Amino acid sequence: MSYSDDYNRLTVIGTKDIVKAYELEKVSCQTELRLFKPMSRFHTITILFGLTALGAGLSLAGPIRWCILGLLLTIYFVIFILGVSVLKLNFFVKATCRGDSTAKRVALTFDDGPDPAATPGLLEVLRRHKIKAAFFPIGTKTRDHPEIIKQIDQEGHIVGNHSFRHAWWTNFLISSGFDREMRMAQEAIDAAIDKIPAYFRPPVGLTNPHLRKALEKHGLSVVGWDVRPFDTTASAEKVIKRVLKKIRNGSIIALHDTGRTPVDLARLIDKLVTKIKEREYTFSGLEELTGVRAYQTTEGMNMTEPRLPIPFWDESEAGQRRGGFWRFLARKLASTAYVRRAIEKQVTLDAFKTSLSPRFLFGVGLVLFSFVLGWPMVALFSFLSAYCHVPALLILGPAFYMFSHLVWLFGTYLAGRDCIKYANMILSWGLRKVVEKALNREIGRPL
Ligand SMILES: [Zn+2]
Repeated sequence: MSYSDDYNRLTVIGTKDIVKAYELEKVSCQTELRLFKPMSRFHTITILFGLTALGAGLSLAGPIRWCILGLLLTIYFVIFILGVSVLKLNFFVKATCRGDSTAKRVALTFDDGPDPAATPGLLEVLRRHKIKAAFFPIGTKTRDHPEIIKQIDQEGHIVGNHSFRHAWWTNFLISSGFDREMRMAQEAIDAAIDKIPAYFRPPVGLTNPHLRKALEKHGLSVVGWDVRPFDTTASAEKVIKRVLKKIRNGSIIALHDTGRTPVDLARLIDKLVTKIKEREYTFSGLEELTGVRAYQTTEGMNMTEPRLPIPFWDESEAGQRRGGFWRFLARKLASTAYVRRAIEKQVTLDAFKTSLSPRFLFGVGLVLFSFVLGWPMVALFSFLSAYCHVPALLILGPAFYMFSHLVWLFGTYLAGRDCIKYANMILSWGLRKVVEKALNREIGRPL
């Protein structure tokens, strides 16, 4: 099976070997999970800034308004640039930049190869030290030297996607551009080792708002680093010094198997590994270190049942067009953690059909009773004092009125907690219904 469009659809959840039609349908249901992912930090921050700017624009006037708006825009711009360039901020996409921090284990990663002159020598050093590393080769080089990628794989190292061309303009691409870069690199790696990578390392570690969609389409997750010694430009001493300064438990070290002479590279890595070992760190593969699978396969996946009772909706073009704004709104709602939970849990109002908690009922009873104790008692005792000509009775009215407040407070105290629980239930149920209705979904559709 080649890396075709249909195939891409499958790899979103990692199903290289599935060919049966009925399984295809199950898989397509699971791809819907993507829609229920939480919003990225970029989206949240953009909405927050937009609302703040709107509020400031409407409530302020004169020069102060423009000062505040300018300041907001500047802050937003700075955050945006940081988001683009600092992978570990998880701004546009979630990136794994460090593994398990409970043990003295680190992982080596090598980008931008393979280099037919230098990579074999590097592999020899890794073999000697019994280290399993991860390689993020450039797609064009993978296509030109599949035999080296094959050797990397056969020696137990991981191969990840690092784009096809690794061009300087990669991060200016929109989703379709990223899509092509990722697909071609996946194809090249698949052709060389017959495996579909699940790791993607963005060229130069830059990200943008369009990256996420392409990642999801190809079933890739971002793997970054927390130690980057800029080894292509620095001297060996400097590289080692930088690594030793920054290394910690779970570190992912970003190096390159290109940019140095073969002898120089082999010597550098040999020395670096020795120094790291002296610090009593051991080397671990990326999978063990991060717990994220390196390849997309069906192994260990439960294909008979979907993981969550996520309803199904029509993803066809016609389905997309229908209901424009409401559909858009429903999708946005569905991307919030609150609604997602409501859908996953299939929140119902059954709790109201069975018995409500006695505490709640008693509390509500007291609150209602407190109203009877208030003004009606004032009126009653006013009437009685006039009717019986006993002025002292008049005082009982305000006394009952005061007492009614205590009863009210006690009632709300008893009912309050459950009241919030029930209100939350009604809200989740309502939002779930609205979202499902807008997206034309039915619960329990046979999968
Ligand atoms: Zn690179």
